[in-house]
Parts: sequence; structure tokens; C-alpha cells
Amino acid sequence: MKILITGGAGFIGSHLAGSLLGDGHQVMILDDLSTGRHSNIRYLDDGQNVEFILGSILNEALVDDAVRRADVVFHLAAAVGVSLIVQRPLESLATNIRGSEVVLDKCHKYGRKVLVTSTSEIYGKNTSEGLGEEDDRILGSPLKTRWSYSEAKAIEEVLAYAYWREKGLPTVIVRLFNTVGPRQVGHYGMVIPRLVEQALLNLPLTVYGDGQQKRSFCHVRDVVRGLVELVSSPGAEGQVFNLGSRDEISILDLANRIVALANSSSEIQLIPYESAYEVGFEDMRRRRPDTSKVERVTGWNPQANLDEILTDVIADVSERLPE
Ligand code: UDP
Repeated sequence: MKILITGGAGFIGSHLAGSLLGDGHQVMILDDLSTGRHSNIRYLDDGQNVEFILGSILNEALVDDAVRRADVVFHLAAAVGVSLIVQRPLESLATNIRGSEVVLDKCHKYGRKVLVTSTSEIYGKNTSEGLGEEDDRILGSPLKTRWSYSEAKAIEEVLAYAYWREKGLPTVIVRLFNTVGPRQVGHYGMVIPRLVEQALLNLPLTVYGDGQQKRSFCHVRDVVRGLVELVSSPGAEGQVFNLGSRDEISILDLANRIVALANSSSEIQLIPYESAYEVGFEDMRRRRPDTSKVERVTGWNPQANLDEILTDVIADVSERLPE
């Protein structure tokens, strides 16, 4: 098949492209390289089965042409990363709302199945033991910039769902929880590449708040397998799925684990949220998915544990760091 990946030069998109190529598909990558990087996809380029289209999902003519030529669409292009959202909210809203509207509209025009990647930020401050797809969203004030990402992605979900209900467009919505692995960069906030880089440079590890907030990290390889399995499952159409790991760790414990695995002499430094982000910044204390739905529909379960993830990231960041 010919598969279009919007945001295909990003961290997750580039891993997805590699996996689909390995399965014998042709891949079109549409990316404006705002946070995606050409180096992420350079290694894919055999000139035969990969087509790279430089441009934004806000460019209707470009999206129209790409969707027309595709059999299936994975919509991953988005403004992501807490730091980026807090620094550039307007641009992030335009990409995440208007851009998704363009992609869904074109998928409808040409009748193309589309998998839309949403986010665990949807749940906001809901700290349930295991967040289920039907659980409530608990958000702070819209004037706290962080929540604008959750709002934008919720609108994207509503759009995708409405296209399925009202127009019969086959859509699948996937809420990605913290996804990590090689090629992820720390510039936009992501904690693991940031802490690994600090550890390898023997700099203090910047743990925000009291470090007791918890996250569940999933290897990008497992996430990509889940995306491919979901798009291939007829039972997934018109549905929303959590995709992520259920293994939880506090950020302080994570930092200690990274120091140990990287053989680092770094210390750990606690940094108040208002210095790290902005005054009044709200974090989630916890965010752990219930993934029984994806398991029921596709049999998916993550395979890589945290140490395997960290070992892969340490190797990747070591290669990228200057001597
Ligand atoms: N975090 C941290 N130090 C950093 C970057 C992030 O302690 O240098 C914390 C952040 O405040 C959050 C957790 O790590 O509690 C995960 O952050 P990330 O931005 O990776 O993901 P998200 O907040 O979207 O779960």
C-alpha cells in the first residue's frame, strides 16, 4: 500500500515510516520540519519507496494531493512538547486544530482511512489508577497555556469521531502516553532525552517540582507496532484507544536510574516548576493508562521494560553528543 504519514520526519513518525517500509509498503512523508528533522529519515531514503514532501498540514493544496495519492493516512503532525506549547501557544493551536481539520477533510474527500494520534494530555489532572478511554477530563483554567494542548487535541478527536459518525469515514483515534526511544530530542521538554544528556555530560539532572510526579514510559518500537495493528483492525474504526505502558515510575526514581545506567557522576537538582516553565504552571501528579481496550481488540502489549528503553536512549544520545 501507499501510506501517507503526516509528521513522518518526527520522532514517532520516522520510526513508523521505517516499520511500514520494512513491511513492504510505500511511504509518503509530509513534514514541515518544524520539530521533525531530516536526519530522522535520511537513513530511510532508498529513493524508491519513500517520498518526502516538505510542507505544512495547513497547506490545503499539498495535503489534498498527498491524501489523493495515498491508500491510508497516519496523522501524526502536531505541535508537541510541553515547552513548545507554553512558548508558542498560537502557532500550536493553529497546527493542532486547523491542520487536523484540513487532513480530515481531505481524507473524507477521497475516502481514505485515517489514524489520528491524540494524547494522554486529554485526561488533564485526572490521576486515576488506570485511565480508561471513557474517563473524565479534569483541566485547569484555559488561561493556563499548558491546557490549550489538551483542548486542541480534544477538538481534533471530536472532529475525527464526527467524521466517522456523520460521514462514515473510517477513523481510528489513538491517545499516546509518554513515548520514548532513540531519536527523541529534549528541546521541547521531553524528560528522558533531557536527563540522559545531562547524565552523559555529568551535569546536574534537572528534576522539576518534588520529583514525586509519576509517568509510564513506553518504547517507541512498541507504540509503532500498536499503531500498525490498530489501523489494520476493522474493529478499531470509530473508536478511541489508549496506547502506552502501565509501568509507573516517579521522575526522581527515573533520574536515579538514569544516573546508574549511564555510569554518571551527576547530582540531582530539584527545580521549581515556575522556573522550569512559567508561573502558575500545573503538572500532572500521575498519568497511567488502562490499555485493556487495545489489548482486547488487537492483542497488543508493550514488550520493552524501562531499563531496555533507557539503554537504547543512552546509546542514541551518546552517538549524537559531540566528543
Ligand atoms: N521533567 C523534569 N525535568 C525535565 C523535563 C521534564 O522533571 O528536564 C518532568 C515534567 O515536569 C513532568 C515529567 O518530567 O512531570 C514528564 O515530562 P515530559 O515533558 O517528558 O512529559 P509530560 O509532562 O507530557 O508527561
